[in-house]
Amino acid sequence: MTEGAGLSEDAAGGLSVVIPVYNEERNLDALYARLAPVLDRTGRPYEVIFVDDGSADRSLDVLRRLHAAHRAVRIIALNRNYGQHAAVFAGLDHARGEVMVTLDADLQNPPEEIPRLLAQVEAGHDVVGGWRRIRRDAWVRRFLSWCINRLTSTMVGVDMHDYGCMLRAYRREVVERLRGCREISSFVPALANSFARSPVEIPVDHDRRADGRSHYGPVRLVRLALDLMTGFSLLPVQVVSLAGLGIALLGVGFGAFLLVRRLLVGPEVEGVFTLFAILFVFVGMQILALGLIGEYVGRIYLEVRRRPRYVVGAVYDHAGGAARPRACGSVPWVHG
Ligand code: UDP
Ligand code: MG
Repeated sequence: MTEGAGLSEDAAGGLSVVIPVYNEERNLDALYARLAPVLDRTGRPYEVIFVDDGSADRSLDVLRRLHAAHRAVRIIALNRNYGQHAAVFAGLDHARGEVMVTLDADLQNPPEEIPRLLAQVEAGHDVVGGWRRIRRDAWVRRFLSWCINRLTSTMVGVDMHDYGCMLRAYRREVVERLRGCREISSFVPALANSFARSPVEIPVDHDRRADGRSHYGPVRLVRLALDLMTGFSLLPVQVVSLAGLGIALLGVGFGAFLLVRRLLVGPEVEGVFTLFAILFVFVGMQILALGLIGEYVGRIYLEVRRRPRYVVGAVYDHAGGAARPRACGSVPWVHG
C-alpha cells in the first residue's frame, strides 16, 4: 500500500478521517505524522479531511502545506468560526468514505486507536464511540462532562459513558441520516446515537493537549449542556412544569396548615428569614424555568431563520483524489 492517495468519488471501502481545526498551527504536523502511518497500515484507501473552523492563527497555511505534500489531504475552510460540531458536520458532509472517523486536532485522541475503532465497525457496529477512561483534563471539566454525559444518555436514550469523546467511527448510513437533519446546533455524537442501530463504546487513551489551551471554558460547556437539553427533548420544560405543579400543591398544603395553626395557636411572626430562603429558591427556579423556555423560543427562532449550519469559504481538493484500483477499494466493511 502506498501512502494515502485520497478517495475518488466512487471509492468503496474507503475511510474518511474528519478533523476540526481551530487555532492548532503547532499540532497539525505532529498529528499528520502520527496519523498517516496508522492509516497506511489499515490497507484501505483513505482521505484526511481537515476542516479549518475559521482559525485566526496560521493553521490554514500549515494545512495547505500538508495538502500540497499529501494527496490524501483535503481541506474544507469555513469562512469563520462556527464551533467544533458544525466543523465536524462540514467534514462529514464532504466525506466520501464508507466509514468515517472523527478525531481532535490537538493529539488528545491518539490516532493509534483508530484500528481498534475500525475493528468494531467490521464486527458490525454502525457507531463506535471512544470512552476516555482516564481523562487528562482538569477536574472541573471532568465533573461538568460527567453531568453532560448523564444528561445526554437520558435524552438520547442510549446509555454511554462518554459523549464528549470525538474519537469515533461512523458507518456511512448513519452519517447520511445525520446529513438529513437540518437543525442548527447538532451535537454530533448524540445525534448519531439517536440514529444508530448498533452503537458500541470502547475504552480509548486520552492524552494531554499537545500545544495550546482547550477552547472549552465552563461557560461554553454550560451553553453546550443547555443546547443539548433543549435540542434533544422536551423533558426539561416538562420537568419544570411538573415541579411547578408540585410546588403549587405544597403551597396550598402549607397555607392550609397555617390557617389551622392560626385558629388553634394564633398567628406566627418568627421565621421571616427562613421565608426569605425559601423565596430565593423558588425565585431561582422560576428564573431557570423562564430561561429554559427562552432556550426553546430561541431555538425556534434559529430554525425559522434557516440559516446554514456553516458556510464554506474554500475547498482544497486534489480533483476527486487519485484513481485507485477498485479491487483495493471495494473491501467490504462488515463481516458480521
Ligand atoms: N475546535 C473547532 N472549533 C472550535 C473549537 C474547537 O474546530 O470553535 C476543534 C479544536 O481545534 C480541536 C477540537 O475541536 O481539534 C477539540 O477542541 P478542544 O481541544 O479545545 O476541546 P477539548 O479537548 O477541551 O474538549
Ligand atoms: Mg482537546
